[in-house]
Amino acid sequence: MGFNEPTRRSVWLFFAFLILSAGAYVTYSRVNVLAGERDGEGAASHAAKGEEERAVSPLVLWQDMLEGNRRFMRGSLEPKSILGRRQMLVKGQHPKIAVLGCADSRVAPELLFDKSLGDLFVVRTAGNITDPIALGSLEYAVEHLHVRTLLVLGHEKCGAVAAAAAGQAMPTLNLDAIVNKITPALRKVENCNDPVELAMRQVIANVHQSAMSIVEDSPILKKATEAHELTITKAVYYLESGEVKRLQ
Ligand SMILES: [Zn+2]
Repeated sequence: MGFNEPTRRSVWLFFAFLILSAGAYVTYSRVNVLAGERDGEGAASHAAKGEEERAVSPLVLWQDMLEGNRRFMRGSLEPKSILGRRQMLVKGQHPKIAVLGCADSRVAPELLFDKSLGDLFVVRTAGNITDPIALGSLEYAVEHLHVRTLLVLGHEKCGAVAAAAAGQAMPTLNLDAIVNKITPALRKVENCNDPVELAMRQVIANVHQSAMSIVEDSPILKKATEAHELTITKAVYYLESGEVKRLQ
């Protein structure tokens, strides 16, 4: 039995509607998936994402951090959905990287690496050094949050390192504790006539020492590095260019 002309037109319109609807649905789903990828929307998908991210190699994580740093250097940070991210994080955090950085107001890791809420677990002290509380915080990140990469980040013109290098008496025991922690690193620094170069060598020596003391002073973090469950990365930040350079 054949269709007459109006019926045939209706059938074609119906199929055209079906195809367009399916296309729109696929597009809508993909946009949502992309939004989820970007902002981590949805608790269930986020839990799965947390597992996925922990499996990402330290090298891939570092590449992602470097790309963020390059955006920061150019002054073109990615737009972020702070509201969506904040809501998503109410149920829990899954930071990928822990950072031990300096408290210096110019060296905020989230900005330097173009990251958002929930991306980095940050411990900041003057001179990026550790004491039991800072170490305990890092242990929490590794043991409880399963962070697999820890970045020790020093920076150019660090006041804490400069104070330790100056060797002058500190007015309080608390400030003394900071310079006393940094001073042993400076003894290993080869002298240099260029004061800028010397200061940078001191900063770098302090980063190496901090990374070493994380392992020496924390059995948990030592065990994690020996089991290759934790990678410690060292880097320094340059104030004027905004660049973060990895140390070997
Ligand atoms: Zn500093």
